[in-house]
Amino acid sequence: MVVFDNKFGAYICERCLLHYESEELAKKCEAWDKEHNSCNMVVARQSIEAKSRKEALKQ
Ligand SMILES: [Zn+2]
Repeated sequence: MVVFDNKFGAYICERCLLHYESEELAKKCEAWDKEHNSCNMVVARQSIEAKSRKEALKQ
């Protein structure tokens, strides 16, 4: 289920626990996870976690 994580301030996909800025992306992620039992790289890369890692790599 996609819920709004108040502590984090973003939507979370409860299957893979990644956060997304939009509910639409989080739902997309969850739908994929459910169907394929894995993560969609194209979607996961847009998660807040992936974005912050990307920023960290630049430094
Ligand atoms: Zn997910």
